[in-house]
Amino acid sequence: MTEQQLRGETPCVVDLSASTLTASSDTELFTTTIESSAPESGFDGFGFSDALLKTLADKGYTDPSPIQKAAFPDLMLGRDLVGQAQTGTGKTAAFALPLLERLQSGQKTPQVLVLAPTRELAMQVADSFKAYAAGHPHLKVLAVYGGSDFRSQISALRRGVDVVVGTPGRVMDHMRQGTLDTSGLRSLVLDEADEMLRMGFIDDVEWILGQLPEERQVVLFSATMPSEIRRLSKRYLKDPAEVTIRTKDQEGRRIRQRSITVPMPHKLEALQRVLDACGGEGVIIFARTKAITLTVAETLEAGGHQVAVLNGDVPQNQRERTVERLRGGSVDILVATDVAARGLDVDRIGLVINYDMPFDSEAYVHRIGRTGRAGRTGEAVLFVTPRERRFINNLERATGQPIEPMEVPGNTAINQGRLDRLHKRLADAAQQPRANADEEALLKELLQRIGTELELSSEQLAYAALSLAIGSEPLLRQQGDDDWIHNTQRRDRDRGERRERRNDRPARPPEDNMQRYRVEVGHRDRVKPGNLVGAIAGETGLQGRLIGRIQIFDNHSLVDLPKGMPEDVFNNLRRLRVMNRELQITQAS
Ligand code: AMP
Repeated sequence: MTEQQLRGETPCVVDLSASTLTASSDTELFTTTIESSAPESGFDGFGFSDALLKTLADKGYTDPSPIQKAAFPDLMLGRDLVGQAQTGTGKTAAFALPLLERLQSGQKTPQVLVLAPTRELAMQVADSFKAYAAGHPHLKVLAVYGGSDFRSQISALRRGVDVVVGTPGRVMDHMRQGTLDTSGLRSLVLDEADEMLRMGFIDDVEWILGQLPEERQVVLFSATMPSEIRRLSKRYLKDPAEVTIRTKDQEGRRIRQRSITVPMPHKLEALQRVLDACGGEGVIIFARTKAITLTVAETLEAGGHQVAVLNGDVPQNQRERTVERLRGGSVDILVATDVAARGLDVDRIGLVINYDMPFDSEAYVHRIGRTGRAGRTGEAVLFVTPRERRFINNLERATGQPIEPMEVPGNTAINQGRLDRLHKRLADAAQQPRANADEEALLKELLQRIGTELELSSEQLAYAALSLAIGSEPLLRQQGDDDWIHNTQRRDRDRGERRERRNDRPARPPEDNMQRYRVEVGHRDRVKPGNLVGAIAGETGLQGRLIGRIQIFDNHSLVDLPKGMPEDVFNNLRRLRVMNRELQITQAS
């Protein structure tokens, strides 16, 4: 993050509306770029010690970022705070600097505890604390997370630590064992709270919150604010200050994002239905490969749409002509690959359809940024196959916005849309006089003549004119050809219910000679019992048949193993990776 990017104004609640944010380039969609005419104020005036001011100057920080300016005063006073901000806004320093400044000297037990969803974030936050505490070499910061050596963490805790940063599971283990004494804790930070919720840590977080001293400061940061996080904040935070930082990708606020789950064989038909129900002005459809852009374009053309294609095979000069056609309105639909559509800036795009899931969240943000431009609102619809649905969370986090589920428009919705549009066109035509008055007189005379010749009422005449305008194609879709939509929805619902029933079933206790363990892989990693048996048997030398019951849940699994596992075997199992994720094995309660 550059200094210029972090420069901003000083409101108490920062709500940087889109007008103060500029998109400097398409590749920088995640960073905060803030224009400001406010004079640089530096870090003076927040009550920071000289040692900290020097550390910041040495790090080259000249000005606090907007979230820092907003958070410092309240946090220095010991107030609770809820911040909605994403990585890259300077949120770590926003809480780390005031909390460091409020540490009391001479206390042996930890004063600050930070909970982070992943070991990577925990390490990163701990490193930031260490860097900001450079002026206080005696200050001790410790990161505790699953998969790292328990004993060395215990001895560090015994020697005395001021700041502990950890993942919820490991922190809870230390608290339960009495190796982490929270009786003198002054501040707790929940970093990336929504991610902890998503990873299934929320019960652990609540347990930890329940153990803390009554008088403590709680700081909660989250990129998004789902209702569970709001509930948590209401329950455990006292009259918190609220800070919201809108980064420029949150221009996305003006873009309504939705997702449709559609099985592969029905994608083309679902696309036509979405266009029928929601398409209006300009539409861009993103596809993964050149071949798919062509298939999609051909299908839509056959359905009567005017379509242009933009892919790597289209020569540069023709690409420019295509964009001009889209801009001018001679085509309404563009089917494009990511590379070809980079930097595309057309104001009249009202809808972006992600026909194929983008490769990563950056590509997604880039794609949907093609709509909602020039102060307009926009719609973005993402097609996902049932298997791809689990990636939606990442995209929500990248944009800081929810992606609402949407159903494939059925015939009733489409027909209603068509009637509404016809209603509007007719009303507009009736209220707008024709530009050429002579022509208008001639048309009226024609109507009168036909009416007299055929002895028609004005109603019959109006109907004939409307019918002519609509053309011979049927106006409405016939019932019945949307049965597959209902069938897919029903199958989906059934699958969800079956999974819920499985998870709700009360777990049988382990056999007498067995101990139940929790491992951090689950359905989200697509783990199967065989993967666990294979990996555990391989690592421990246990025969597969000695491995007991295995229960797989969304974010974790329970495995029954023979009692009396030697400690070194247990330690090796902790770091064992299954489905590319560390088991982080712990004894299940
Ligand atoms: P974060 O949002 O906490 O992940 O921070 C993003 C990056 O901004 C980190 O590399 C920080 O070191 C850096 N940073 C945080 N605050 C400032 C600041 N006031 N001036 C310059 N860089 C900063």
